[in-house]
This record gives sequence, C-alpha cells and structure tokens, in this order.
Amino acid sequence: MEQTVLTGSCPCTRDCPRHGNCAACVANHRFKVPGVPACFFSEEGEKWHDRSFEALFRDKGLLKKTTDAISSSALSGG
Ligand code: SF4
Repeated sequence: MEQTVLTGSCPCTRDCPRHGNCAACVANHRFKVPGVPACFFSEEGEKWHDRSFEALFRDKGLLKKTTDAISSSALSGG
C-alpha cells in the first residue's frame, strides 16, 4: 500500500496537483518532466518556472550568464 506524506510548505507557484506531495513531485521531475522540484530554488528563481539544472545553477550563482554552459565536470561533481 502506497503511503502519501503531505507537507504544507510547498513553495511551487505553478498550478499542479502534486502540491504538498513531495514523493509525487520528485517522481514527476525524475521520470516525466526532467528537472528539479521547485523547493530547490530560491523564491526568486522559482518564479522563472524553469526547472532545468541550468536554471538551478544560475539561481545558485554557479552560472553567471545565460550563455554559460554547464561543464560535464560540474554535473559529475568534479
Ligand atoms: S515542482 Fe513540479 S511537480 Fe512539484 S508541485 Fe511544482 S510543478 Fe508540481
């Protein structure tokens, strides 16, 4: 039997049926919509509604410009 844990602090501003259901949210972004759940972003970064790794890195100051590319070493943690 699947157990659903709901949280009342979902910061996502998109219209989505997974609000507060973290397991469903993570599964959605892992298997259906590639990217990162909204709760990884800053409040300002979340408003872009771009859940890509590039947007997350930019939000965290790891990419300076929109033309900066993510190197393979950055993705592998190297
Ligand atoms: S981050 Fe994605 S899956 Fe999670 S609540 Fe927002 S839109 Fe839905």
